[in-house]
Amino acid sequence: MLKGAVKAGAAALIKERDYLSELDAKIGDGDHGLNMARGAQSALEALDEHSGALTVSELIKLVGEAFLMNVGGSAGPLYGSGFIAGAKAIDSSEAALDAKTIGLFLHEFNAAVKKRGKAELGDKTMLDVLIPLEKIFVESEGKPLAELLKVGRETARNAVEYTKELTARRGRASYLGARSVGHIDPGAASAAILYREISLYIEKNFLTPAQPD
Ligand SMILES: [Mg+2]
Repeated sequence: MLKGAVKAGAAALIKERDYLSELDAKIGDGDHGLNMARGAQSALEALDEHSGALTVSELIKLVGEAFLMNVGGSAGPLYGSGFIAGAKAIDSSEAALDAKTIGLFLHEFNAAVKKRGKAELGDKTMLDVLIPLEKIFVESEGKPLAELLKVGRETARNAVEYTKELTARRGRASYLGARSVGHIDPGAASAAILYREISLYIEKNFLTPAQPD
């Protein structure tokens, strides 16, 4: 059911490869686009090679393993362990496509990234996009999913811009200290791209959309 969402997310990462690498070149080693595109390609291949039905949890685990096994830098282990932890969390739930499940997934994804990357909100990492997103779904208060997904896209866009104001405290960019200010964090950008594509896919294919963005 969510194979299409994985394909949409992967296609977007491959398309944005150069943009993500340009962001990383400003405050890191310029390989983030390449790493994410490689992860996306590996996930697509794993999906192709897998015959038979997959539960949502199994599908996400497959993606996580593809990142973990094929992607270098910090992106592979961080995204990989995030996806695997998120997959495990929704395995035990009924995995309905609702705010509660998405919140649970993001909570476990973020917990794994925090642990592995020793990062917190405000460190200029992907968590500066993903923690605000987690909050939207965990504190959804019964709002329609289409609305939450849309609010999430706006939040993610703003959160990416906001990383410009932050000083990097984790990863290679942290060596720059205050000189990292003024630049978007590439991991925040890739997380927002993934969220945008997957949320749009869910909205288009499974829900009655809210007003257009
Ligand atoms: Mg890099």
